[in-house]
Amino acid sequence: MGQHRQILLEHIQATDQHTLAGYESRGGYTAIRKVLGMDPVAVIEEVKKSGIRGRGGAGFPAGQKWSFVPRNTGKPTYIICNADESEPGTFKDRLLMERNPHAVIEGMMIAAWAIQSKWMCLYIRGEYAFPYTRVKQAVDEAYAKGYLGDNIFGSGYSLHLVVHRGAGAYICGEETGLIESLEGKKGQPRLKPPYFPATMGLYYSPTIVNNVETYAAVPWIMNNGADTYAAIGTEKSKGTKLVSASGHINKPGVYEIEMGYPFMRFLEEECGGMLNGKKLKAVIPGGSSTPILTAADVQDAVMDYEGWAKLGTFLGSGGVIILDETVDMVDAIRNLTHFYAHESCGQCTPCREGSHWVQKVFDRMATGQSVPGDLELIDSIVKQIQGHTICPLGDALAMPVKSFLAKFQDEFKTRILSTLEGKSPPASRLHASFETHH
Ligand code: SF4
Repeated sequence: MGQHRQILLEHIQATDQHTLAGYESRGGYTAIRKVLGMDPVAVIEEVKKSGIRGRGGAGFPAGQKWSFVPRNTGKPTYIICNADESEPGTFKDRLLMERNPHAVIEGMMIAAWAIQSKWMCLYIRGEYAFPYTRVKQAVDEAYAKGYLGDNIFGSGYSLHLVVHRGAGAYICGEETGLIESLEGKKGQPRLKPPYFPATMGLYYSPTIVNNVETYAAVPWIMNNGADTYAAIGTEKSKGTKLVSASGHINKPGVYEIEMGYPFMRFLEEECGGMLNGKKLKAVIPGGSSTPILTAADVQDAVMDYEGWAKLGTFLGSGGVIILDETVDMVDAIRNLTHFYAHESCGQCTPCREGSHWVQKVFDRMATGQSVPGDLELIDSIVKQIQGHTICPLGDALAMPVKSFLAKFQDEFKTRILSTLEGKSPPASRLHASFETHH
């Protein structure tokens, strides 16, 4: 535990790793050749044994998800790669798609064999123009070489892959919103139950949806064995994790850590410490929807599913946002609530209405217009949102708001008190842009 392990980023610096020739020269497409000779059920068992959990945010065991797909229903089955990476603070899938797209494709192919699917789709965030170009090139190369299409590798098995670009909606990163969008409808999430993708996914047929990073790890697992993968990390959090590190640090970027890596060591050694020698104030550990922690909270934190959960937050997508002592917490949460209010798909009343109410109350707090009872009002709204919506976007707004208010209560109270005493608010970095657009 706590070692530097390179599985996903091992060849990331090789300038030709994105090409089929470069990928194959470093062992690419050996796993799928092996898998095509295996019983599909044995493939699922191997992935289960590895202990890998979904790397998109929810952390559901991948092999178990694959095993939920019913067989012989008479319907087609589908493999979807969720490449709609939109969670603020998260940019690790972008790196994989730009520099190692064949690993993602090969992982999808292995999953397809495991559930005997003939159709795959990679749904990529619309704004990801360059990653799209790289993925498309990789798919074209794979088709040209007979690795995708009819009778792949001369096995008699046919497998197709469609690359589909999203149109900029955050909510299409939610798997059922993504599926609706793929079907040509508005990207609005479906109710679960009954619409769990494993049984009622794309075109209401059995569908596996996994994240880019999850698929990219699968070829390594099949080449090196589930036991080797399971020996990396901790008892419950197996393998490695890509972390997108951003904020007030000297070396922002994408890092691969072994699960269980100590956070403070990560901050000092990988991220090069705090920018300009400033003090650490807060950490958002898993993308903007995860509850925030104070500097004191993270002193002994370890980076894995259980380590962050122990502190009341989540590993999430691995998007670590590090904030220094200069950050105004009212501005910070105001910024986040604007994002979630803008991205609400509008289907459920608590999310559609509540997100805008919360945004407006933070707007007036940041601009010196608070009224008595504002904190209680926010608390009441987020309670009515959390757990009362169709998809997790409602929680993604409510959880950070609650944690900001709980962890930095004094800052919010002081701001409101200053307003009530007639003092001017500090200049808000967000004020000008929001006033312009709203
Ligand atoms: Fe749409 Fe929000 Fe409801 Fe999700 S929680 S379905 S984003 S309205």
